[in-house]
Amino acid sequence: MEIEDITSADRRKLLKLPILAGLVGALPIEAAAQEQKADPLLTARPMPTVDARFPAEMAPGVFILPDKRIPLVPNIGIVVGTQAALVVDCGLGIDSAENVLRLTRELAPGRRIILTVTHAHPEHGFGAQVFRNDAHIYYNAAQRDYLMRSGNGMLDGFSASVLPPAHRHLLDGIELTPPHETYDGSEAAFDLGGREVRLRTWGTAHSPGDQIVFLPQERILFAGDLLEERMFPIVPFFPPMIGADDIDVAKWEVALNGILRLQPRLIVPGHGNLGGTEIPEAVLGYFKAVSNILAQTGQQNRDLRPLIRARYPTWENPEFIPPALAYFRLRA
Ligand SMILES: [Zn+2]
Repeated sequence: MEIEDITSADRRKLLKLPILAGLVGALPIEAAAQEQKADPLLTARPMPTVDARFPAEMAPGVFILPDKRIPLVPNIGIVVGTQAALVVDCGLGIDSAENVLRLTRELAPGRRIILTVTHAHPEHGFGAQVFRNDAHIYYNAAQRDYLMRSGNGMLDGFSASVLPPAHRHLLDGIELTPPHETYDGSEAAFDLGGREVRLRTWGTAHSPGDQIVFLPQERILFAGDLLEERMFPIVPFFPPMIGADDIDVAKWEVALNGILRLQPRLIVPGHGNLGGTEIPEAVLGYFKAVSNILAQTGQQNRDLRPLIRARYPTWENPEFIPPALAYFRLRA
C-alpha cells in the first residue's frame, strides 16, 4: 500500500484505535500517557508477575508459561531432558523468578537446572539472582557485557519511568546477576539428555547479544524480543536509558532471516501468541514499511504515526511507533 492510499475509511478506523491501545507495553509512562490520555487501563495495568500456575506443553517435555499479553511479562520456556532442564527467561522481579524456579522443580524433579536469558532487558531476566545457587546461568558474552555495562541504568530507568508507581516495588532488591558461564561467538549447543538445544546470536539487534533458543528435533524456537506477535515491534530507543548504539535494525533483519532459515515449526515470541514463520515475516514487513514511509515522505518533521498505524490496525502497543520512527530517522 502506498502512503497516498490511506482512505477516509482508514482514517475512521484510526479514530477507534484508543480501544486497542488499552494494553501498553514497556515504554516510558509519559509517552504512553500521551498516546492514550485518560485511559483508565493505563493506571490499572495488571501486575507483571509471571503466573506459573498454568504451563502449556507444546511437545512432550517442552513447556511454556504464556504471557497472557500482559505488558512486561515475557513468554517463558521450560525444556525438560532426562538429565537437565533449561529455563528460557525468568521474568521481572523476585516473585516471577521464584514462581518459575518452583515450577521447574515440579516439572523436572531431580534434574540439573540451566537458566538462559534471551536478552538483558529487565522484564526477561531481572530476577535471575533467584537461580544463582540452584541453577547454572548460561548465555553469550555480549549479553553479559551489556548487562554489566547498562544494567544499573535500565534498573533506574524502569523504576523511574517504565513501571507504574504501584509496580515499582517489583525491582526492590534486584541485583544484577552475571551468568556463571558464557559462550563466545555466535552459537552454543548442548544436550539436556535426549533433547538437543542450540543457542544462537546474530549480535546487536533488539539489544546487544539477543539470542534465540532452538530445539532442532522439535523445531521449536524461542525468539525473545526479536519477535512480538501482533504488537508493534519494540525498537527500544529510549535515550539515555537505551541509546541508538544498543540497537541495530539492519542486524535485526539479518537475525530474522536467520530464524526463517532454521525453518521452525513453532515460534515463541518474546511477547504475544505462539505462531509460525508469519511472525518474523510480519516484523520484516514492518521494518520495510517504516523505512519506505520515511523515504517517501522525506525527513520533514511530519507526524507519521497515523500512516504506520493505519497499516497495522489490529496490532497492540502503538506507543512503540514513535521510538521506531526516531531510530529510523537517526539512522537514515
Ligand atoms: Zn527487550
